[in-house]
Amino acid sequence: MTLSKDLSDKDLTFQCPSCSLTIVKKGSWVRTVSRFRCEKCLEEVRLPYGEKLAIFHRHKHLGRGGTSRR
Ligand SMILES: [Zn+2]
Repeated sequence: MTLSKDLSDKDLTFQCPSCSLTIVKKGSWVRTVSRFRCEKCLEEVRLPYGEKLAIFHRHKHLGRGGTSRR
């Protein structure tokens, strides 16, 4: 399993582990960063590869939900 390029232009959401702020970033951003500073609590949040995989995995499933809507 890899960090799919399909999601590069998609908005991915995840939560700050410290303050639970919902963070929205493009897939390409998530792929390239390893850490960032939360704009709300100003904690440095690490984004290890496993975490990125989990985020991508979640959105892949969401995107595939159904064929009813195009
Ligand atoms: Zn935060």
